[in-house]
Amino acid sequence: MPLYARRLDDLGVEGSFTFGEDIARCAARGRDVVRLTIGEPDFDSAPHINEAGIGEIRRGNTHYSDPQGVLPLRRAIAAYLERTRGIPADADRVVVLPGAKPSISLTLQTYVDPGDEVIYPSPGFAIYESWTTFVRGMPVPLRLREERDFTFSADDLAALITPKTKLIMLCSPSNPTGGVLPASLLAEVAAVIRERCRPDVRVYSDEIYEHILFDGARHASIASQPGMAERTILASGHSKGFAMTGWRLGYALLPTADEAQTFKRQVIQTTSCVPPFTQEAGRVALESAASYEAIDRMVAEFARRRDWVVPALNAMPGVQCRRPQGAFYVFPNIAGLCERLGVLDAYAALEPERRRRTSPSRLFQLFALYHHGVAVLHRESFGTRGAEGEHYVRLSIATSLDRLREGVARLAAAGDDREGFARFMREPEALR
Ligand code: PLP
Repeated sequence: MPLYARRLDDLGVEGSFTFGEDIARCAARGRDVVRLTIGEPDFDSAPHINEAGIGEIRRGNTHYSDPQGVLPLRRAIAAYLERTRGIPADADRVVVLPGAKPSISLTLQTYVDPGDEVIYPSPGFAIYESWTTFVRGMPVPLRLREERDFTFSADDLAALITPKTKLIMLCSPSNPTGGVLPASLLAEVAAVIRERCRPDVRVYSDEIYEHILFDGARHASIASQPGMAERTILASGHSKGFAMTGWRLGYALLPTADEAQTFKRQVIQTTSCVPPFTQEAGRVALESAASYEAIDRMVAEFARRRDWVVPALNAMPGVQCRRPQGAFYVFPNIAGLCERLGVLDAYAALEPERRRRTSPSRLFQLFALYHHGVAVLHRESFGTRGAEGEHYVRLSIATSLDRLREGVARLAAAGDDREGFARFMREPEALR
């Protein structure tokens, strides 16, 4: 009998976590590695938020709490969403969760039966695809197109909708591309959904990067479009904007109180609740002007780094990089670099079995790490289906400008090192 249940094979694992083992191996060999893989702000949560959490612990607010989330925080979230999205929201429809991530698995488990089709952005946060296959849904990637600044058209979406469509997942600003879906596009998308989808089809809107927008852009949510709040699970949280990744705090606004109860039931059966002192700190974060001032300072710094890194990448032969409008990632197309370096030829020459387990951007990722000491994430870390023939890497700009400069210099050196790459292909690391 096998030890592990078969369904575990369908879950996959987030690429950035497994690649961590390679980085650790490199570091253990004494190599300095510039990590451009980080998916969290390199800023700490603000002092007034920290003090709020510490104060609650001192006061003894350290017990179990309402599995749906404490009422003061749910009320604060509802008020915040009403204010920022222009939609009615009440505390009964809010569920507080340990991060935005759990709302993904809860949504898939709640709404998707085996055989139901799930449309999700690709490249996108990899666990959309993982959870779709885990619940035995049918993955339907919605390609984000580089030439449209990593968005899609309403027609692209319409072409994927069938009578089996059950869930449509959107993410803006996007991990990994930094693409932003403007309100004008969301209006067209909403029109397609209203016209083509049954009322039981749900939209999952991942808005965790809502605060990280550049060039004066304002966040837009599909839930704000007519008829959409009634079918949207709006997910966001404190991790990215408020730099609270380690606090584990996120939330979802469900279309109905009944649907919120189904989420609550699953929380009761798994994690019980989010720590109450975290929730109180989260309420203070949402309601204090000081939090938004901290966000403005952080976003200004991300913008400064973006403005440096995009031209620097575009100056590398064979690299094309779009200027992201949000989040803290850049997603350069490295097809020309792969060609120049001999990656495409080396990949084509692999045994079919080895080819199946890797990709050109993965070979470049491993080479850049093991030979040049710079860590980036390859295309398939953001969804495998439909990724064939796409050659991209993601760089996080959530690191100091000095380290970013060093990392980009190392990527440029890797891009020029044809001989080194040929040698690398004979080393065991190329097989990973
Ligand atoms: N959604 C997207 C698109 C993300 O990139 C991330 C984190 O990287 C999450 C959700 C998860 O956020 P949290 O840490 O709040 O669970």
